[in-house]
Amino acid sequence: MSETDSMASRQWLPPHLRSLGTTIFAEMSALALASNSINLGQGFPDTDGPEVVREAAVTALREGKGNQYPPGIGIPELRRAIAQHQERWYGQVVDPDTQVLVTAGATEAIAGAILALVDEGDEVIALEPYYDSYAACIAMARGVRVPVTLRTPNFRIDVDALRAAVTPRTKVLLINSPHNPTGMALTDNERQAICDVAIENDLVVISDEVYEHLIFDDRTHRPLATMPGMADRTVTISSGGKTFSFTGWKIGWAIASPSLINAVRTTKQFLTYVSGGPFQYAIAQALALPDEYYASLTAGLQAKRDLLAQGLSDLGLDVCVPEGTYFITTDIRPLGFEDGLEFCRALPKLASVVAIPHQVFYDNVDVGKPLVRWAFCKQDSVLQDALNRLSVLKAN
Ligand SMILES: *Cc1c(COP(=O)(O)O)cnc(C)c1O
Repeated sequence: MSETDSMASRQWLPPHLRSLGTTIFAEMSALALASNSINLGQGFPDTDGPEVVREAAVTALREGKGNQYPPGIGIPELRRAIAQHQERWYGQVVDPDTQVLVTAGATEAIAGAILALVDEGDEVIALEPYYDSYAACIAMARGVRVPVTLRTPNFRIDVDALRAAVTPRTKVLLINSPHNPTGMALTDNERQAICDVAIENDLVVISDEVYEHLIFDDRTHRPLATMPGMADRTVTISSGGKTFSFTGWKIGWAIASPSLINAVRTTKQFLTYVSGGPFQYAIAQALALPDEYYASLTAGLQAKRDLLAQGLSDLGLDVCVPEGTYFITTDIRPLGFEDGLEFCRALPKLASVVAIPHQVFYDNVDVGKPLVRWAFCKQDSVLQDALNRLSVLKAN
């Protein structure tokens, strides 16, 4: 869509949605296509997930499984597989019939949870920079987003700032760890502080854990819902997209207490009702893959992280090495640039590479201004090619 089209579309939108615009991913991916650039912008892998999982989808489709509306809460096989996954990895016991809801990707689980829990004027505290659908969903619910800013070099949570952000209108803490776009993964202290704040102020926590298996250097992921006092106030959200490298299938889920799940189901049923029938069968099988699958996913991505981090650092960029996710953040100022949005708009011409500016994920735009995000979920040869192209930027 051209800038004029998107300006014109604004007249149709109610005032509280006018600031949403087109997502940066659409803009940058279109730029990548038009300029024949390597796209290290949008976070999707350039190779599909396991063949057995792909075949499971084909088989389900051929056998007529899921070709008609599946149950509103998701097929029993998948809900059981999700519950077993939580117990296997985290010792979290949940009832697949009353505590698991299958959604159209984590995206719908986030929308459903926010629309179910946030009333007009309610405040939602979220870690900034935030994933862009958070701001949109909070706006659609007519809630108020309250940022807690993560800062370079380590993007640690300022616990005092988190406490200070709570007011009588605060309803929800929206947490994402491992965190997109910064790559931050919660430390034990940070996790405990979030739980303390939630419990002391009687808040619901929406915990986006889509990168639960993309965590590096022997760190382990621990769901907030498994912390003492948190089971009945946490909506855990994840999806098969990132864990199994099938981001186009959009099989996600929410896990919570029966009453919270019912609340989320109430909104979710009128968003899509159901989705992805045959893919639900395939993701059920994927979740049961042996430990080796998960270990090799993590090890493979960690090696790619190291390759891209080293290469970007050799170019002279300040690199924030991520603890999880498949994104690296860099500060572009050592190369003589100030503004990440201008940099990313110029980069296809300069070097035939596309990246994502952080600043679009901030309310405090200045904090994110010099930061740029690079996705490393790409083949090694593609990463190497991108680095070769980027060498034209090299600081002297
Ligand atoms: C990719 C992503 C999602 C969306 O997941 P889908 O399953 O594709 O809908 C949600 N949250 C974060 C932080 C993500 O990076």
